[in-house]
Amino acid sequence: MGNEGHQSSLETYRSICSNVSDESKDSKVIANVQVNPAFFSATEHKVNSKKRLVAETLDDQDSGSERKKSKHGDDIDEPSVKVNSASTASTVQKVNLKRCAALDVQDSSSDNKKSKHVEDTDETLGVQDSVHDQKKSKHDDDTEKEQTTQNSYSGLRKYQEELAENALQGKNTIICATKSKCQGCIFGKNQSFVRSTIQKACDILKHLQKSNNIKKFLIGQESTDESARLQFDKGRLFFMTPQLLMNKMKLDEKFPVPISTFSMLVLDECHHVHGKTPYNDIMATYRKAKNDSQEMKLPQIVGLTASPGTNKAKDESSAKEHLMKVMTTMDVIHLSTVRKHKENLQEHTSEAEQVVLQMKVRKRNPIQDKLESSISYVERKFNSEKVQKFLDINMQDIHEVKQSLQNTPVQKMEQTYIQWITETRLKVENVLNKDEFVPRLLLTYLRHLEIYAECLEMNSLLDKQAVVDLITAKSSDESIQSQNANTIEERDILKYLEDVCTFMCSLDPQQVECNPDVQEIIHWLQREYEKQGDNSRFFIFVKTRATAKALAKQLEYLKNLSCQYFTGSQVGLEDGGLTKHKQLEVLNKFKSGVHKCLVATAVASEGIDIPECNMMIRYRFTANEITSCQMRGRIRTAGGKEVIIGSEKENLRETINVERMVLMERAVDAVLAMTEHEIREKINKSEQLLFQSEEVERKKALESSKNKVVAKFKVNCRKCSKDIVEGHNLRILKGSLHVVFDNSIFGRITRKPIKHIVTEDIKLTDKVFGECGHEWGHINVYNDCELVVLAQKYIKVYNVAKQVPINIKKWKDVPYKIESVDNDDILAFRASQLPTPE
Ligand SMILES: [Zn+2]
Repeated sequence: MGNEGHQSSLETYRSICSNVSDESKDSKVIANVQVNPAFFSATEHKVNSKKRLVAETLDDQDSGSERKKSKHGDDIDEPSVKVNSASTASTVQKVNLKRCAALDVQDSSSDNKKSKHVEDTDETLGVQDSVHDQKKSKHDDDTEKEQTTQNSYSGLRKYQEELAENALQGKNTIICATKSKCQGCIFGKNQSFVRSTIQKACDILKHLQKSNNIKKFLIGQESTDESARLQFDKGRLFFMTPQLLMNKMKLDEKFPVPISTFSMLVLDECHHVHGKTPYNDIMATYRKAKNDSQEMKLPQIVGLTASPGTNKAKDESSAKEHLMKVMTTMDVIHLSTVRKHKENLQEHTSEAEQVVLQMKVRKRNPIQDKLESSISYVERKFNSEKVQKFLDINMQDIHEVKQSLQNTPVQKMEQTYIQWITETRLKVENVLNKDEFVPRLLLTYLRHLEIYAECLEMNSLLDKQAVVDLITAKSSDESIQSQNANTIEERDILKYLEDVCTFMCSLDPQQVECNPDVQEIIHWLQREYEKQGDNSRFFIFVKTRATAKALAKQLEYLKNLSCQYFTGSQVGLEDGGLTKHKQLEVLNKFKSGVHKCLVATAVASEGIDIPECNMMIRYRFTANEITSCQMRGRIRTAGGKEVIIGSEKENLRETINVERMVLMERAVDAVLAMTEHEIREKINKSEQLLFQSEEVERKKALESSKNKVVAKFKVNCRKCSKDIVEGHNLRILKGSLHVVFDNSIFGRITRKPIKHIVTEDIKLTDKVFGECGHEWGHINVYNDCELVVLAQKYIKVYNVAKQVPINIKKWKDVPYKIESVDNDDILAFRASQLPTPE
């Protein structure tokens, strides 16, 4: 199409929305990293806060036959908009829309909902459109015309135009839409939603387009028989996670994909771009390409965020500095924010009413008393003769442990106490080999302290039953873990825990005062429900999964609300995580009103699409200014409420957040006040510095991978320090999985089957435990071969020659060479497992 540089970006920007199917066109592939539908909706002249408008097609002269089918009542500008440099938002705005695909977590199957949508006012017009379109696309292509005509596409709102302007002109930009509804946070880090949504997006687009040109790349869905380059050749619009794109661009891929393949990258939640994140990795690759070759055609960068954040800035100038840093990282000179049309923005958005409440303290608190005395009891054990003797004998080697044990934090309810436990545990693990008895006992004590501390926290958050449930579960876990505990000390401490458990269970409910904060929450829920009735959609944010689960359970008796917890899926399901499938199901039910209240962890603050919510309660949940702003963004209805319940300290944080948001706004103003030339100069300078430091890093990384030494090491159980595998029998599969390549392992483990998790070509089937009851990792099935994959957090690496443990945080940190395995090695290993023929 003859366009060069950024002009062609504009062209390709259009192709996001346009003509995804046209293969004859000078194909420009667009990687869409974490797509934000709001971005599309902006180009589609639609307000779309609730539904996911993922992509749409514009008419194009090359697809005329298709075009004739669509007749929108308005927007009749000839579709064949020739993109020229003069194109601006308004030009593109006039581009005729052919079709769009709207996505919704919920299937738009129930018809009664349709009527509800029709009643909606202008505010949700865009949503109507998309809902209709989607339905039509499913049912009847012909009726589409009339219906679409009725639901004419209104123009972009003024403030949305303002936000989209830079991007539409082909400039790199960050769209910060602090209060704007058009900046819905849709795709974030949470894979499940990306996956299912994109699946739907693609299905619908496919249906509309009868084309396979839209590619979805998702972690775990890589096809192995095609090179990435080939895959990219075939499509034009891609949805993927930043990590996956990064993997595709890596040089160790067989066919690395150069960044110049893409004409545009859309980075949603782009405040994640700083620090060690995949986003930043992508931008580092971009910078390298930019520096390596002046001619390189680089993609247009469009970032979306509710707030670029201030990185704890205390004043305007440091907030500005941070903003400039983010801009540098994304090679952005032009910020997109609402300045000219603030009034228009105010008109269309509503600020939630904020209520900040300070948590209350119970007068009598027998549970807390008991837990505190239990902690003292365990801590006193550190002074026992056996422990002291051990500490004295090994004084030199273990003075760190000694120091820790002598400096137990006074305040047991604070986070510092849990931190102290974690740190001390690490120190004790390092001296496991000094004595076969005491370090193990110390670890047991620390586990018990952790249980009591967790219960203390639970007690401060919720009511008696939650604490009872928690301590019961923990003490039964502990009895299993201590099956082989043969010492008097270990049995004593376990007996003590069981007694505490019994005491809690037998407490007369009358004696235990209800948690006043929970009462406050209930009060708010009931009051708002009276007002909102069936329209009630409440969100409660809490810190941990355990709290989410327990609070949802406690609120169960509010029958009208049908409370449900909503948590992440990353780690164990036993810890209160939800499967991805379940997450979607819960969200669907929340949308349809089956559940009117969700108790969620931070997982819901970003990265998923949540329907209109009219009250959000943040319960003892501290957040930074970005999260705080994102959470507030969850409240989308007029007259919405935000209730914050926290300690004095926690609530102070919120005040600081508000101050930081103001600083951020001022920083934006300050940047906008600079001339383009000034900004460019500054950004170029710091980009050079950034690039140079990245070059140094890259060199270092290369060296360290070269410098991995061959050494005799072994991997031991973190709990009992028993050998798991010799270093030479440890292998790396697929670049990251650490596999035990020693058949004797199967005789030394016990397995606990789990619900199979399939990612890519690997299936997780069992959890793996050592003889001591400690978890080691998982069974992964790859090429029909069972492999024991060790989890770094459960093991310790020992240097055999020096007899010292190597402290690592990630497998990558192991300073020794570990061999990689390929398919053939796996097949050979599998063959060795089979019984040898007679
Ligand atoms: Zn063990």
